Amino acid sequence: MTPDELFDIIVIGSGPGGQKAAEQATKSGLKVAIVERERAVGGTCVHLGTIPSKTLREAALTITTLKRNADVFDFKLKENMEVSTLMRRLDSVLQSYTNHISQQMDLTGGKVFLGRASFIDETTVLVTTVKGKRTVLQGKHIIVATGSRPRTPEEIPVDHEHILDSDSILSMIYLPRSLTVIGAGVIASEYASIFSLLGVKVTMIDKTPRPLMFMEPELTGKFLDNFTRYGGKYIGNVNAKSVEWNGLQVRTILDNGQELLSDKMLVAQGRLANTEPLNLSSTGVQLGSNGTIDVDENYQTSTPSIYAVGDVIGPPSLASVSMEQGRRAIKHIIGESSKESISLVPIGIYAVPELSSVGLSEEQAREQYGDNIIIGRASFDEVARGQIAGIKDGMLKMISDEQGEKILGVHIVAEGATDLIHVGEMAILNGNSIDVFLENILNFPTLGEAYRIAALNIATKRSQRQSKKLQPRIQKLIDEAELN
Ligand SMILES: Cc1cc2nc3c(=O)[nH]c(=O)nc-3n(C[C@H](O)[C@H](O)[C@H](O)COP(=O)(O)OP(=O)(O)OC[C@H]3O[C@@H](n4cnc5c(N)ncnc54)[C@H](O)[C@@H]3O)c2cc1C
Repeated sequence: MTPDELFDIIVIGSGPGGQKAAEQATKSGLKVAIVERERAVGGTCVHLGTIPSKTLREAALTITTLKRNADVFDFKLKENMEVSTLMRRLDSVLQSYTNHISQQMDLTGGKVFLGRASFIDETTVLVTTVKGKRTVLQGKHIIVATGSRPRTPEEIPVDHEHILDSDSILSMIYLPRSLTVIGAGVIASEYASIFSLLGVKVTMIDKTPRPLMFMEPELTGKFLDNFTRYGGKYIGNVNAKSVEWNGLQVRTILDNGQELLSDKMLVAQGRLANTEPLNLSSTGVQLGSNGTIDVDENYQTSTPSIYAVGDVIGPPSLASVSMEQGRRAIKHIIGESSKESISLVPIGIYAVPELSSVGLSEEQAREQYGDNIIIGRASFDEVARGQIAGIKDGMLKMISDEQGEKILGVHIVAEGATDLIHVGEMAILNGNSIDVFLENILNFPTLGEAYRIAALNIATKRSQRQSKKLQPRIQKLIDEAELN
């Protein structure tokens, strides 16, 4: 088929992965087309996932602050609260974000095609608009960044009205009185805790004994304490046997016989890669067992002209990671390989409270180092800023090797954890010892002080293990920390 237009790079999908690939490519002087099947660029991240959920979270936190200060503000949440009212800021957030993306594309000269893309062969793509107009594009290289969609288990009749998924949950008109959340991963935990903060009676159910199984149990324990304090309930080790809308409520029967009734349900049981409508069979691109696209360390597929980035290649399925993968794919195409492969990925979970981690978990550290590790902990009630901000039940856990010379992992639960984690990330990346937190000045009062407390905790344990007296310098620091 004769192409209508020729490009160096065709990017399919305008989420974080596609967008950053397109930006990198246009900055590198390449002629770029970006194809998006929705009405606007931005992907799941902007329109359905990251940004909308975090906007609702901000509203929930503001309401909680007002409630907590009831002696200052005469505050009561309105009856029949509309979800859109809680998300008023979303329109302006989305507007400025999509404007920014479009401006970037305009500035750098990339051309946006709004339509559904499917492959004709390994260098040719057909774009079909909703009105049926067809355009054939040819590219020397093609980046697939088509993202993912919610997985709907067969036994759950998602109708997007009463039984919703993570794409439709925020289309609810009114805040429900009760919500059953099926799932215990990141999206389930974030929405469960946000809605519970808004006064919704939330019950979370999953086959796992605790939510967020891949996070440190100490952190998830604190998350569950908080969730329960706001009236949430977690039922673990169960499956939903049947789910139905009975005309009045969503009725869920668990495999232990228990019946749950709620106004609405959120189904958050994982996501599936968007590959089907792409006609990948015409390209020779190999898929993995779970339907994701197989790529090598440069994000190149089994067909050399085609690369894939973001959720479509599978975990960790984060906007942050997708962006970097997009940039790296283009760098490989232009022969500017990235310095090192991505080895350290911080995980940020915007539940209430936030949870964040980087590096090895305690279990992973023990697998690699046996008992030759030391764990330092800091509770935020030991930190002045934690007391001031009412963040008492947060904690920071630092894992180091036996000498404290290498920081192996940092895990934090508390409001602000997703930002605070970057201090630990940089320490790990730079190969710092725990001493970096003892020898340098940190602002006071900050939550960052928790790093120093955890490092001091490690220093104390290190000298106990070595049956050595603490160096006077370290002992002095500990005494001072206790005085704070
Ligand atoms: C509720 C929720 C909260 C989240 N919170 C966070 C968070 O806090 N932090 C974080 O890092 N990540 C978060 N994520 C994950 C993040 O949204 C994804 O990892 C990220 O959006 C993936 O980017 P992507 O570029 O791979 O795909 P997407 O953002 O999914 O974009 C893919 C785009 O491709 C388009 N497309 C698909 N098929 C075609 C086709 N055939 N033709 C043309 N266009 C096509 C789609 O319309 C879409 O616009 C969250 C996700 C959800 C659902």
